[in-house]
Amino acid sequence: MTQPSLHPWNRALWESLPTPEQLRPVLLLSGPDGTGKTAFAMALAHRLLCAQPASDGQACGVCHACRLLAAGNHPDLRVLGSADEAEEEEGGGEETSAQGKSSRWIKVGSVRMLADFLAFSAHLGGRKVVVIEKAERLNPSAASALLKTLEEPPPQTHFLLVAGKPARLPATVRSRCVTLPFALPPLDAGLAWLRAQGAQRPELALAQAGGAPLTALMLDSTGYWSARDSLLDAVLTREDFDPVAVVDRLGPEQLPAMVQSLQRWTYDLLALASHGTVRYNPDCAQILHRLAARTSRLCLLRFSRQLHEVVRSLEHPLNARLVAQRCLFAYRAALGGTEG
Ligand SMILES: [Zn+2]
Repeated sequence: MTQPSLHPWNRALWESLPTPEQLRPVLLLSGPDGTGKTAFAMALAHRLLCAQPASDGQACGVCHACRLLAAGNHPDLRVLGSADEAEEEEGGGEETSAQGKSSRWIKVGSVRMLADFLAFSAHLGGRKVVVIEKAERLNPSAASALLKTLEEPPPQTHFLLVAGKPARLPATVRSRCVTLPFALPPLDAGLAWLRAQGAQRPELALAQAGGAPLTALMLDSTGYWSARDSLLDAVLTREDFDPVAVVDRLGPEQLPAMVQSLQRWTYDLLALASHGTVRYNPDCAQILHRLAARTSRLCLLRFSRQLHEVVRSLEHPLNARLVAQRCLFAYRAALGGTEG
């Protein structure tokens, strides 16, 4: 674990933080995914554990605590919910990440394992910090196990909950937290950062990510652009196509990416119909205008709901080929203004 760096658009929020002594013990870092909440939480964890923070409040990077943090084995930090920590639970998730990987739930066992950590005083004699990434993935029993601790946090202990969809956290948990609100950065700040990271297509990646720079950077790969180009060519820029042939050509493993592309495309078609703007696919504005003008809004809305149902089932698709074909048949029917 190297020293976490703050994203430039989150600096103002960082500078508004009170001193560690005045910081409330349970914080909820909430806001859109891809805006740097987790990096912020880790920077804050390092600051709380560092023995001699720098003048800007960031960890010094050189003290004993910081060296342990850099090595990833500070005994007074626990991170729950990272990709390897969370476990899969039957029937649990309903979201897909940008790569179409299934979501995972944080189970009660992970929360119970915190008990020992919380029961003893800090190894280094300072504070203890618990970071919970993607806290909305706490399953109900994990959330209620955590609630007791959040109601009466042990002294010198900080909880940093990170959530892109905080509404999914139980209200009882949310009510224990002080919220640090994150927002999408201004367009130019997001673009400047993406260019500095060497993004291939910064403008389009940021649009495809709905303005979230970290998501944009994750999307911006040759594989992503080539899959998108294939779908544009085979389906999206056409008014008619053969769903069976398309799925045979693209391969059923493209299902999650295809569903996400169709969701963004349908959003743009609906947005054009209602307020004349394109959010995700500005490079295709012309064809979107043409399709939106001749497609029934009601049919698009119905198709959009069908896609939402597919997203819910992506965790365990029974037959990806069949689901992909159905999506494309439904899209074609929506374009044709008939029931899919
Ligand atoms: Zn330090």
